[in-house]
Amino acid sequence: MPTGRNPEVREDLNSATSLNHKRHMVDLMKQGHFCSVKGCGNPAARSFSQREIAEPASKAGLSLPSSEKRVYLCEKHYKQVKKELKKQKKAEKLRHGLPF
Ligand SMILES: [Zn+2]
Repeated sequence: MPTGRNPEVREDLNSATSLNHKRHMVDLMKQGHFCSVKGCGNPAARSFSQREIAEPASKAGLSLPSSEKRVYLCEKHYKQVKKELKKQKKAEKLRHGLPF
């Protein structure tokens, strides 16, 4: 076994880690997921669990299939929901954090 191979392997691992996020996005598209919003059909840019997205999505006026465990959103619809997601997180913090 030649010991000179080790540094090469380590370098490969490093570059793989830095690309992880990009790969995840590409994987979503490769798997053929599309936006779950009714009438949309754009390629999915983000995926959420039904539990975390149901409420913000309905507040943003989007109708999502409630039977699916995973919900996929395209870039456009994610931007709409993102505002509501932030509000929800703030509200949760207030609910749990303040000693009223
Ligand atoms: Zn969409």
